[in-house]
Amino acid sequence: MVRSRFAPSPTGYMTIGNLRSALYEYLIAKRDGGVFILRLEDTDQARYVEGAAEAIFETLRATGLHFDEGPGVGGDYGPYIQSERKDSYLPPALQLVANGKAYYCFCEKDRLDTLADERGLKKYDRHCLQLPPEEIKSRIDSGAAYVIRQLIPDGATTFNDQVFGTITIDNAEMEDQILLKSDGMPTYNFANVIDDNAMAITHVVRGSEYLTSTPKYVLLYEALGWPMPLFVHLPLLQNPDGTKISKRHGAKSIVELIADGYLPEAIINYAAFLGWSPGGDHATREIFALDELIKIFDAAQISRSPSTFDETKLKWMNAEHIKALPPEKYAALALPHLRQVVKTPNIDLTELARITQSRVTFISDCAEMVDFIDAIPPYDIDLYTHKKMKTDAAIAVQGLQAAQAAFQQIPAENWTHETLHAAATQAAEAASLKNGQILWPIRTALSGKPTTPCGATEIAALLGRDKTLQRLEAGLALLAAAQG
Ligand code: GLU
Repeated sequence: MVRSRFAPSPTGYMTIGNLRSALYEYLIAKRDGGVFILRLEDTDQARYVEGAAEAIFETLRATGLHFDEGPGVGGDYGPYIQSERKDSYLPPALQLVANGKAYYCFCEKDRLDTLADERGLKKYDRHCLQLPPEEIKSRIDSGAAYVIRQLIPDGATTFNDQVFGTITIDNAEMEDQILLKSDGMPTYNFANVIDDNAMAITHVVRGSEYLTSTPKYVLLYEALGWPMPLFVHLPLLQNPDGTKISKRHGAKSIVELIADGYLPEAIINYAAFLGWSPGGDHATREIFALDELIKIFDAAQISRSPSTFDETKLKWMNAEHIKALPPEKYAALALPHLRQVVKTPNIDLTELARITQSRVTFISDCAEMVDFIDAIPPYDIDLYTHKKMKTDAAIAVQGLQAAQAAFQQIPAENWTHETLHAAATQAAEAASLKNGQILWPIRTALSGKPTTPCGATEIAALLGRDKTLQRLEAGLALLAAAQG
C-alpha cells in the first residue's frame, strides 16, 4: 500500500511550492487508496517560527488535504511531531556507531570554525574518527559534549529518482554530517530518514532542492539495512522573471492567497499543474476538482523542467472555479460583499449574485459591479456614444424618450425583465431605432457605467419601476443640459 507523507519544517509560512509537495504526496497516496501522513520536522528549534505550524494545519484543512494518521486517540489524532519523538533517534544512531557507520565527535566550535577544504568550504576533517575506544568512553563518562557523525564511505552513491532518473554522486562531495546533536536532538537529515522508515513511507515527494541531500539519505538506508522508498523530486518553481519562488523572496503564503480571494479549490487545481499535466483524454482540460485529480494524477507524468508560477493563470482558474460553484454557494459567499454596497431595500441580492457569478475573478469583485444600484455615479454624456451600437448623445435622447414612454405603460406588477425587454424592442422599432440605440442609452442612464454585469432591461428589472423612471428622466435632463 502506498504511504506518503508531507514533512514540512515549521520555519515559515506555506508557499505554493510547499502546497504542491503536499498535494502530490496526497494524490499519489489517494489514487492508490493509500495513507497520507503529516509530519512536522521541527528538530531545528532555532529556526522555529511562531505560528508556522498553525498555518500549515490551516492550509491543509482549507485545501482539503486531510491526513489519515498520527499519534493520539480515536478520530482525534494529530500530526506526527518530531520533537515529540526525540527518544526514537538515539537507538539507530548507536546502531550505526556499533556497525562502524557513524562515530562520536567531540570537536568544539572553535576548532570546527578553522576547518576549510581546498575550495574554502568547511568540511569535517574526521579528527575524532581516530580516537581510541577507551578515550571515547572516558570522555562520554566524564560528561563531555559530543555529536554523532555519519561516516561517509569511499566510492560513489547511485540512486533512482522517479522524475530525474538515475543520479550518481561522488562520495567525496559529502561531509561526515552530524546525525545527533549535542543536545540529543537529531538533525533534520537524520530524523527525516528514521521517520520515513518508522512510518513505512513508500513515496518520498519533495522539491528538487533536496536532490543533493538524497545520497546521504541513501547511504543511511544502506547502512541501516532498510528498504529504500521511491524518491520523487519535483521541478523547480520560478517566478515569471526566472527568479526562484521562496519564502525568502517574498512569495505569498497560501493563507494570504486565500485571504486575497483565491478559492482553495482553484489554488489546488493550479498547484497540480505546476510540474504535471494530464495526458490522454484529459490533455486539453485544465479545470479539475480535487477528487477528479485523485483519479487522473500520475506521478510518471511529472516534468523535470522548471515550472513558472503565473498569477494571471491562477486568476483565470479562480474565475473558472467560481463559475463552477453551485449558485447557492456562490450567493452565500457573495452576499456579504453585495450588502456592503447595496443598501436599497427590496433589491433582490440573490439575483444580483446570480448575475455576477460568471463575471468575477474574485468573489469580492461583485460589489464594484453593482455599486450603481444605490446611487448612480457621476458620468459624462460621452458615455452615450457607442460606435458599435451606433449611438451618440442625439440618438440617446430619442432612445431614452422612446423607452420612457414605453416603460411608463408598464405597471409595477408586470415589471419583469421579459416585459421590459419586449417593450424596449417594440419601442425601438416604432421609433425606427436599432435595438442597441435604445438599449445602450437605457443602460447608460440606469448605471452611469461603461460596463455592467447585465443588460439594460435586467438592470431596469432590478432597480424597480420608480428608480428606473427617475433615472431615465435624469439621463434626459443631463443630455438636455449638455446640448444647451
Ligand atoms: N522538512 C522538509 C521541508 O520543510 C521536507 C523535506 C522532505 O520532504 O523530505 O521542506
